[in-house]
Amino acid sequence: MVAQAKSVVEPLRKRRRVMAGMRPTGKVHVGHLLGALQNFIALSEQADCFYEVADMHALTTKFDRSGEIGHDAREMVIDWLAAGLDPQRCTIYVQSRIPEISEMYALLSMITPVSWLERVPTYKDQINALGSEIATHGFLGYPILQTVDIAIMRGERVPVGQDQLPHLELSREIIRRFNHLYGPVLVEPEPLLSQTPYVPGTDGRKMSKSYDNSILLADSDEETIAKVKTMFTDPEKIRKSDPGHPETCPVFFFHRVFNATAADDIAQRCRTGQLGCVEDKADMARHLNAALAPIRERRREIVSSRPTLVDETLAEGTRRAQAVAAETLAAVKSAMGLA
Ligand code: SF4
Repeated sequence: MVAQAKSVVEPLRKRRRVMAGMRPTGKVHVGHLLGALQNFIALSEQADCFYEVADMHALTTKFDRSGEIGHDAREMVIDWLAAGLDPQRCTIYVQSRIPEISEMYALLSMITPVSWLERVPTYKDQINALGSEIATHGFLGYPILQTVDIAIMRGERVPVGQDQLPHLELSREIIRRFNHLYGPVLVEPEPLLSQTPYVPGTDGRKMSKSYDNSILLADSDEETIAKVKTMFTDPEKIRKSDPGHPETCPVFFFHRVFNATAADDIAQRCRTGQLGCVEDKADMARHLNAALAPIRERRREIVSSRPTLVDETLAEGTRRAQAVAAETLAAVKSAMGLA
């Protein structure tokens, strides 16, 4: 299932420029794989894809631990490559290594009303969740940086989940404002709506590094088995004979993804009290490990035998992306009369 990445986004009719980024948080977990990385891989087969390691975005919440970001970025890119993202078929680059992005960020900051930024739903939510110390100028302005990420690479389509649509709409508004003020220079991106699955972590909440509930692509088989053993299940199923509710059980979510042919039978045996959670978790962990085995094997190979692959990939991708960025920035400055 994992080796053969399937796109859950609509097919693109012609070779369009797609732009997407991921904040580096270190080793990639199964939620990232199912929610974004598989789409990245599938899209790179049919579009001209630019994939950004969004390390400056990481600074918005990690400015006090900035020394970790380079390492996190590297681990993330190893997993991208191990999962099957082919740098010959897409452009993989580092945001902070392209100074044109920062320069265009300053220019678009001048035309973006503060009220547009303050109304972004996640702005207040994140401050409430993470504390007022993250309420920096950069945190308020990150939607402008996201807009620049897309616009400077001339991204026509942006893969987004339903929940990210308001962010993309704000980017479109900023770009429309620029084009209205200075002429039609920037491409207004369209969403490429993806059905991002809600991937549960071991505690049943959304899988996330910050909840410490993740199963990593880089985990060993034993680590995966140990994590699955602790996984939250249907709280009403105490004994094997209790009728369970697989549709609400995180373990069953993974069966549907990684053990699809047996899922109906497992659901039926769970509901009728013929299957116990201990036995079922061991079975699910086996299938999950089997699906992740090729990725883990490639990761080991990259780390042990190809230590320069990440640096080479990022150097070449950043060179290609910077050429596009320089062209867009020149057009922007010329339109603004700054050339
Ligand atoms: S038997 Fe499996 S699907 Fe059913 S509740 Fe237990 S772990 Fe979940």
